Amino acid sequence: MSRDETRTLIQEVVDKLKKETFSNEFTNNENGEVFDSAAEIIKTTDKIIKSYIRVSRDNGVIERIPAYRVQHNNISGFYKGGIRFSPAVNEEEVENLAILMTIKNALHELPFGGAKGGVFVDPRNLSPRELNLVSKKYVQRLKPDLGPTKDIPAPDLGTNDKVIDWMVGEYKTITPGESYVNSFTGKSAVNGGVAGRREATGIGTFLSYYYLRDQWFKQAKTMKVTRPKSWKNLETLIHSDQPTRVAVQGFGNVGSIAANEALKCEDEHIVTAVSDEDVTLHNRKGLDIERLLAYSEQHRRLPRSAEELKEANVQADIDSPSAVLTSECDLLILAAVEGQITEENMKDVSAKILLEGANAPITKNADEYFENNGIIVIPDILANAGGVHVSYLEWMQSNNDKPYTKEDVITALTDKMTDVCHRVYDHYFYSENHETTRMLCYKLALMRLITLLYRHGKLY
Ligand code: GLU
Repeated sequence: MSRDETRTLIQEVVDKLKKETFSNEFTNNENGEVFDSAAEIIKTTDKIIKSYIRVSRDNGVIERIPAYRVQHNNISGFYKGGIRFSPAVNEEEVENLAILMTIKNALHELPFGGAKGGVFVDPRNLSPRELNLVSKKYVQRLKPDLGPTKDIPAPDLGTNDKVIDWMVGEYKTITPGESYVNSFTGKSAVNGGVAGRREATGIGTFLSYYYLRDQWFKQAKTMKVTRPKSWKNLETLIHSDQPTRVAVQGFGNVGSIAANEALKCEDEHIVTAVSDEDVTLHNRKGLDIERLLAYSEQHRRLPRSAEELKEANVQADIDSPSAVLTSECDLLILAAVEGQITEENMKDVSAKILLEGANAPITKNADEYFENNGIIVIPDILANAGGVHVSYLEWMQSNNDKPYTKEDVITALTDKMTDVCHRVYDHYFYSENHETTRMLCYKLALMRLITLLYRHGKLY
């Protein structure tokens, strides 16, 4: 979904809520002005910062690189969201991702608002010195707008705990005497991070699907409602004596961990395709994910030739990177980047469940097409919130100096994600409205945001 599609969806959902009047709290709402005012606020962004950072490359050339921080809305709490380093970064993308953070945090009832950062750079083309410089310059430039009670960044695409540690170090240097450990999340364990933060998004993504299949569906009530079309597909999949075939787009932090989670329920799942920027690997009988994980840990990518597959000791057919999207499978995990499934290729998708580990990989029209054709989409704002759930724990740990064990983290992540998924699936399957899962998630999130805006007196 693009930024404009996200805004259109916000307006559509607010218009629905206006008609349904979800709460009798809005006493001065005779003409729906509470909702109109809320839509105006949520569709616009609080602050967009664009700056050019100066980086001296190893060859002595100076480059000015565009860097962004977009603070969308902080009605739910301090601004929060990752910083990505990617050659696809632009203002529109970063703003869309910031809006999604606001909605995601509201849906998951986390006490944070929404923000996102980005630097227009390909980290794979930077030396360690250059990467360190970009990270430090970003903090130097953005410092007035960051801080533990203003805006708390985290890793995202192309960044990791190493980058975040450098950012914390720079923040500490330029703000002597101020608290710094709680100014960023996604730090390394030795620098105040929590165990499990790196894996959290992938674990949460798989959980949002597996909870539906393994728990919610088995205890679903028999009710006199017409089920959404996706009910039948799910039932068939769950009762099949064949393992569920999983295809995973993206083999980074989210995709590789989600594939590994699928492996843990091995008798029910086989991973038949995985991809990265260079290649799709297929095996109808199931890929050896453990060996692919070991290979990608060492080489930072998947094997992409017959020789490399031999070196990895993996049996697979090699195909183009986008082939994963249309490969024969039951569950497609989209864990790469935005805009992957559009009107162009939606009809070629064979999966019956689409799981968004990345942000915004499916366009709005494609989303509606899947809903109308009985294919369930588990949307980004529901599925990939594991990272920010664990960021919240890390921020609490940094505030209170009370350490969490990995077990505490995984238990809290599982409990919180399960609660939210339970609420969403109840609404989705027990309602006669047959809205898309995404629309339902937006409804729940916007109900919370509108209530907070109203209670804070912002809608007068
Ligand atoms: N970048 C992650 C996301 O998009 C995590 C954000 C955070 O932890 O603040 O959800």
